[in-house]
Amino acid sequence: MTAYTLGSLLYEGKAKRVYATDQNDLVAVEYKDDATAFNALKKAQLAGKGELNCQISARLFELLERDGIPTHYRALQEPNWMLVRPIRIVPVEVVIRNIAFGSLCKQMPIEPGTPLDPPLLDLYYKDDAYGDPLLTDARLERLGLLTPEQRQELERLAGAVNTSLLRFFAGIGLQLVDFKIELGFSSDGALVVADEISPDTCRLWDLQVSDASDRILDKDRFRQDLGGVVEAYGEVLKRVQGACPQPRSGR
Ligand code: UDP
Repeated sequence: MTAYTLGSLLYEGKAKRVYATDQNDLVAVEYKDDATAFNALKKAQLAGKGELNCQISARLFELLERDGIPTHYRALQEPNWMLVRPIRIVPVEVVIRNIAFGSLCKQMPIEPGTPLDPPLLDLYYKDDAYGDPLLTDARLERLGLLTPEQRQELERLAGAVNTSLLRFFAGIGLQLVDFKIELGFSSDGALVVADEISPDTCRLWDLQVSDASDRILDKDRFRQDLGGVVEAYGEVLKRVQGACPQPRSGR
């Protein structure tokens, strides 16, 4: 990868900052140590979280790429920085659930832990001001964010991500319970997987542990005040690293 110079801050989100570079086809993403939950009502600083999520995400994006799924990822830069392609984010959060947990069980009469086969796909409108509401087909159409073909492609890609991640995590002793991804359009108009894929955005349970709290290795440790958040993310990275030792470097 050619050298680049960091430009201005383009966007600051809850967990990341995005910077322009002097190259049109490259932006730099800094992963922060900030942790938020419940639409940022709960906040904390967790030293090392940004680096762990960046390291995990880089390797998972490369895994998806190997499985033929396009992503915005270009290369790991610093421990908590990655280079990505600039994309136009679709303000739709795509959630796939393999096991019922979290909000689903608060909104429907379904026992936490129930396997979902086929997996359940939910779309949410990504806007904190509205509390990221669940979308209906009619509301999605009304918002005019995607053509029917683009929506079909978005759902196809999300399904492919689930197949890839489910298999990968099972191989390192982790159950992928559910996850959220965001997608966007690259400059050539193609839909690609963007944002991050980490224990902040995936529910991951240790398959070797039966205790319902101890097995949690994701952001639910923060949401539920279980403690050991950074340690749990570290355990996820250790296993991901075992399978994907060295991500591409942009240096
Ligand atoms: N998720 C996320 N960002 C959000 C909402 C959900 O990354 O703004 C992830 C969450 O970590 C989980 C999955 O999406 O892996 C499903 O979350 P759910 O709808 O159950 O909401 P929650 O119970 O986390 O409020």
